[in-house]
Amino acid sequence: MAQLQMITGKTLPDPLQGGHFHVDPEGPALMGNRCAPCDRVFFPRRDWCACCSSPILDEVTLSRTGKIGAFSLIDRQPADAWVSAPYVQAEIELPEGVSVFTVLHPADTAALSIGQTARLELRALPTPDGTRAVYVFAPVADEVAA
Ligand SMILES: [Zn+2]
Repeated sequence: MAQLQMITGKTLPDPLQGGHFHVDPEGPALMGNRCAPCDRVFFPRRDWCACCSSPILDEVTLSRTGKIGAFSLIDRQPADAWVSAPYVQAEIELPEGVSVFTVLHPADTAALSIGQTARLELRALPTPDGTRAVYVFAPVADEVAA
């Protein structure tokens, strides 16, 4: 995978996945929504609940870290991917009970394990129209049990 550079400086490039995240004083966070009647959380946000069909959903800021539920090395370029193969596609399970299907960066599968913690990051993606901000998750080295 072409390296996705850290975003430096105070100016955030235009996001590629507009509306999916925001940046607050604690850093970047994904935006989901929660069904008011049944409490189910969704990402990306939905207009109505897939469980109870309610249209009453409240916006929520999702946890910035989760656990790797699954991952796979993608070594052939999909036609519609914004990232260059090879890369790692992963399911990140957030504490809110929702999974995020995303790119795990860097793409070092030898260093990954199911259940490992991963943290949301924003990276700079060069495009023909200029640099865009993209969200990825980055694996966090597991803590050593005391
Ligand atoms: Zn519901």
